[in-house]
Amino acid sequence: MTSFSLPADWRYVVIGDPVEHSKSPAMQNAALSALGYGNAYGKVRVRAEELGAFVEAARQNLAGFNITVPHKTAILPFLDEVAPDALHANSVNTVIKRPDGSLYGTSTDGIGIERAVREAFNLVPKGLNIVLFGAGGAAQAIADHYARHGAHSIFWVNRTQDKVADLAARLATRHPKLAIDAASPADPRLRTILREADLVIQATSLGLKVDDPAPFDFSLLDGLERAAGMETIYRTTPFLNAFRKRGLHAADGRGMLLHQGAASLELWLGVPVPLEKMRNALEDALCCV
Ligand code: NAP
Repeated sequence: MTSFSLPADWRYVVIGDPVEHSKSPAMQNAALSALGYGNAYGKVRVRAEELGAFVEAARQNLAGFNITVPHKTAILPFLDEVAPDALHANSVNTVIKRPDGSLYGTSTDGIGIERAVREAFNLVPKGLNIVLFGAGGAAQAIADHYARHGAHSIFWVNRTQDKVADLAARLATRHPKLAIDAASPADPRLRTILREADLVIQATSLGLKVDDPAPFDFSLLDGLERAAGMETIYRTTPFLNAFRKRGLHAADGRGMLLHQGAASLELWLGVPVPLEKMRNALEDALCCV
């Protein structure tokens, strides 16, 4: 079995495959340095078959770690306890080592997007009408979070309709007051639903590559007056351009990245974190992507 030797001054890491592109160390180390911990956050490429070995090394050497693609679901069986919301979303992005040495998994993706949406559009979850594109780990964490925090409706759209129908049915069981429906991007109801939406969230991976198709027909945005567009990808995408071209508010995924990272650090340290230092470091790290 592979063994991981982690530098002695690392207390936290992000794992993924690939992970070279991750801006989390820049952002987290800005905060950790300001708080007197130095550059205590690293990144480690972990292949799927190495997860068990990594977790053993983490138990010995780390105080916590973040998980990015593709391990957010695969990590679950290696943990001692998982927060109920992360279990429902089947997605963990933050692991905390407790004083007794046990590993506790949770997700800060939901609180990350909530804070980003509040900051960008001044919208709180309660009473929101949301159109959500995508049904992967990020979208599931987002749907679960907004459902728990009082959203009025979620119109949940995904290419693979069986998957989103199943997820929506399970969310409806847990949150009977939520008005929820599942659809494909070609669903004829989408035009009307978008007219009633406060928030449209793009949580598919479409837009990462230049030749990606659009997640839905952007002409459906014509004539919209109030919907704000939240992208999870942290650079300008056709989704963002489609909103801005029509004079609608829109924000990229940097805010979510910042706030999910800040929320992880708060959980690890138990103190408020220097958010503006993290934001500046993230902006610097993202300047050239
Ligand atoms: P994931 O689990 O792999 O899910 C991918 C989603 O994209 C699925 O809904 C999938 O639909 C859809 N999709 C992929 N290719 C498609 C295509 N060709 N046509 C239509 N739909 C397609 O990914 P994830 O972890 O949820 O991440 C989703 C996005 O969120 C990524 O872009 C990621 O960068 C972003 N993210 C950002 C942050 C942040 O902090 N800013 C945090 C987490 C994630 P099917 O179900 O039909 O396959």
